[in-house]
Order: sequence, then structure tokens, then C-alpha cells
Amino acid sequence: MSECDIAIIGGGPIGIWGLYHAHLRQVNALLFDSLPELGGQLMAMYPEKDIFDVAGFPRVLARELVEQLVAQSVADPTRVRVGEKVLSLTQLDGLWQITTTLGQHLAKSVVVATGLGAFRPKMLGVTGEERFEGQGVDYFVKSLDALVGKRLVVVGGGDSAVDWVNTFSGRSEVTLVHRLERFQAHPASVQRLVESGVEVLMPWEVSALSGDDHLQTVTVRALDGSAERQLPCDQLLVCIGFNADLGPLKAWGLALSGGKVAVDREMRTNQPGVFAAGDVVTYPGKQNLIAIGFAEIAIAIKAATEHAFPGVKSGLAHSSSRGF
Ligand SMILES: Cc1cc2nc3c(=O)[nH]c(=O)nc-3n(C[C@H](O)[C@H](O)[C@H](O)COP(=O)(O)OP(=O)(O)OC[C@H]3O[C@@H](n4cnc5c(N)ncnc54)[C@H](O)[C@@H]3O)c2cc1C
Repeated sequence: MSECDIAIIGGGPIGIWGLYHAHLRQVNALLFDSLPELGGQLMAMYPEKDIFDVAGFPRVLARELVEQLVAQSVADPTRVRVGEKVLSLTQLDGLWQITTTLGQHLAKSVVVATGLGAFRPKMLGVTGEERFEGQGVDYFVKSLDALVGKRLVVVGGGDSAVDWVNTFSGRSEVTLVHRLERFQAHPASVQRLVESGVEVLMPWEVSALSGDDHLQTVTVRALDGSAERQLPCDQLLVCIGFNADLGPLKAWGLALSGGKVAVDREMRTNQPGVFAAGDVVTYPGKQNLIAIGFAEIAIAIKAATEHAFPGVKSGLAHSSSRGF
């Protein structure tokens, strides 16, 4: 059984940045993520999207932000345990015992940064969808270059669908299919879409998928039953949202509010020695933004350090004085 000062649960951007702050405070932290790679939502849901609101980066690809964060934060790769899901947290002789899918660990303090938890994209529910998954049906864009010049059908009317149509407009042959009569995306993005002249079928829906080993045709129909079309298609991109589940965290004894972990100003949960930061938390004024989560985890790691070493005030840690 390994032992550490602080266990950080969740290797999204916020958990990764927690590792940096632990290093800055010279405490020994261990980072867990159930997925095989670090990056959370940025890598799983939008690796090829640009982010514009991280201070110091006028524009950064989500994948690149994660790479930079890892380079900045992971001083010792043996402190990162990917592919290891945390199942339970129990108190043991003043420490926290963390049981994972691969074993058990002890920590003086715990910082929960599990974000949305386990997220699954919503499926269309049409016949053949599962069969073609990864063979012409996808829910996230994994590689922008792979889709350039292809025949794309994008499904959805929210930010994700509209942003992808705008991204591929002029570079691929794109059709947008949306079940509702209105978009739910940012008005400026919708304006750009309208001006692009991309074919938009709404209110229409996908009714069937066909092909051999790979998807070849998407059948779409008008919701009022007045028309049906067969769209030749290399890639169907389904962007109709996702379902999130907090998973095992629900049984960790943490006080929740609206399905999120309730924290105070020092990112303390109701459990002594357990702190939380990022999308998993709630407090008045909370916003699910990377920049805000970065600040929260800096506060959480300071408080977790003080819990791990009672009586030792950890104070303000300036990276410029430490040199890393
Ligand atoms: C399409 C899209 C675009 C976005 N664009 C922006 C933007 O432009 N700017 C911005 O600021 N924000 C943006 N966001 C929001 C931003 O991505 C989130 O605020 C951010 O990812 C939160 O980071 P996190 O580390 O708290 O959680 P997450 O990124 O959700 O990471 C949590 C990690 O915890 C892991 N985990 C969960 N449960 C366990 C467990 N039991 N054991 C081990 N590991 C576990 C998960 O596998 C995951 O890797 C966007 C979000 C989406 C979906």
C-alpha cells in the first residue's frame, strides 16, 4: 500500500494543475485518473477545439493546453496513476484510505477533482449506430485533419454541433441535421453558420444508417413526414449532448448540492481532510471554467497541505521565488 501527503482524484486540467501546486509546496502528491490519458474533458470531448479564455494563451488547442499543463506540472511521472479509478474513500487511523480498481493507497489529505465524473455521449438511438461507432459514426472529433475533404453529416443544434459545422465549412462537404426549429448555440456562431451557406435540414432527423463495414449512407427525414433523403456520408458526427454520472463519488460521504460537491471558501468539503475543486464543486457564483478551476485547486492544495501538516502554515507560494 503506497502512502502520500495528498491524493488528487481526477486528472483533468484542474487535477493536473493540482500536481504543480503540490510540487510548489513541496508535498508529495499522487494523481489518479480512471481514463488511460490525462486531460479530462479536453482530451475526451474536444481535443481539436481552440480555447480562447485561458490567461496567457490568446488561443490554444485543447490538446496543446493539456500537453503544456503536463509538461509544467508532472515533475515525477511515477506520481501519476492513469487507468486507475478511485472506488472508495474511508478513514483509517487519521488518514484516508483510497481504494482503486488496482489497489489501496493512504493519504493525509484528499483533493477531489473528478469534474463531470463519467460522461457518455447521448446516442441517436437509430439502428446500426452501435455497429458503425468508430466506423463512420463518432461523438467527438478526435482528429481534425482526418475529416478535412470528407462528406460530413453533423447532428445537433447546440454550440458543439454549430462550432463543428463552422470549422469544417469550406473544408469538407457538410450537412447539418437538427430535430428542433431553433438552434441552442451562441447567436454569433449561428450567424456565421447561416452566412456560410452550409446545407441545414431542420426540423429533420436521422432515421437510418447503412453501409458495409463502414458507414456509407445516412437516411434523414423531415419531422412532419413530408420528405426523406439519402445522404452519402463518410462521417456522421453526433453532437446532441452527453450524460454525466458522478459515479462512485456519491458514496464517499460528501455533502452534495444540486449533484455537485459543496465546498467552502477554502475548498473544504464536509469531510475533514477532503477538499475539492473544478467542475465537481459548487458554491455561490461557481462557473465551470478552466481558469476558475485553476484558482480553486491552488486554494485546495494549500488547505490540503495545512491539513496534512497541522501547525505548519504553508503561506503564499510564489513560483518566482522557487524557480519552478
Ligand atoms: C465542448 C466543451 C468546450 C469547453 N470549452 C471551454 C472553454 O473554452 N473554456 C473553459 O474555460 N472551459 C471550457 N469547457 C469547460 C472545461 O472543459 C471544464 O471546466 C474543465 O474540463 C473542468 O476540468 P476538471 O479537471 O474539473 O474536470 P474534467 O475535465 O471533467 O476531468 C475530471 C477527470 O476526473 C476523472 N475521474 C472522474 N471520476 C474519477 C474516479 N472515480 N477516479 C479517477 N478518476 C476519475 C475523469 O476521468 C476526468 O479525466 C468546455 C467544456 C466542453 C464540454
